[in-house]
Amino acid sequence: MNKRLYVSDLHLESVDSPQFRGLVWLLESHPEHDLYLLGDIVELWIGDDDDAPLAQALRQVLRARRSPVYLLHGNRDFLYGDKFCSETGATLLADPHRLDDGTLLSHGDGLCTDDTAYQQFRAMVRSPAWQQDILAKSIEERRAFGQALRQQSRQTNANKAANIMDVNATAVADLMQQHEARQLVHGHTHRPGVHADERRYVLGAWERCGWFIEQDGDALALHCFSLAPHCGNETPHPNG
Ligand code: MN
Repeated sequence: MNKRLYVSDLHLESVDSPQFRGLVWLLESHPEHDLYLLGDIVELWIGDDDDAPLAQALRQVLRARRSPVYLLHGNRDFLYGDKFCSETGATLLADPHRLDDGTLLSHGDGLCTDDTAYQQFRAMVRSPAWQQDILAKSIEERRAFGQALRQQSRQTNANKAANIMDVNATAVADLMQQHEARQLVHGHTHRPGVHADERRYVLGAWERCGWFIEQDGDALALHCFSLAPHCGNETPHPNG
């Protein structure tokens, strides 16, 4: 089995950011790993026809990868489609997705079942009809819509852990049982950690540091590294 690298919640907004440079560093330092992008890689994906610098740079970074790249939708980048996949070589996986060793992958937002308002919103934006409507708009209209959402997101601190509900323990247990999962890897909650009792591994949001989970056989470890300038040293997380 190839070693695996799981990341999520980079919330990339520009190429010229510590987060984007952190991603490049992470991928270059783990060239052989199968890469699993578990959602919210960018702050907003407005469609596969996006030709903005960030979208182009992301395509380029993934296309340059020689080992396999897998992709799950997040709640901010749920519009990746066939075009993005064929241009990057990435394979889009359904959420949740069970790997053959019993590792279950999810972005994690679907497990936050206590947040009923969010679940209604999620059902709407994931519906094919709503997505068709959005994608039928011009790229300029979608960009303007995206800018407005980003503005709103900044004002409400929508990416802060305090404003995102945690996963529901019963929803986690049910999902894992349903898929006969050995372990669950997810992001979204911005509450990185290893919950050994549940065999649940949670990725963190890339704010002051970048987070990733490395799987080598049966061993999974959560790591973080500083995103501060001139500091590319990997520091294992205490929970790792
Ligand atoms: Mn999310």
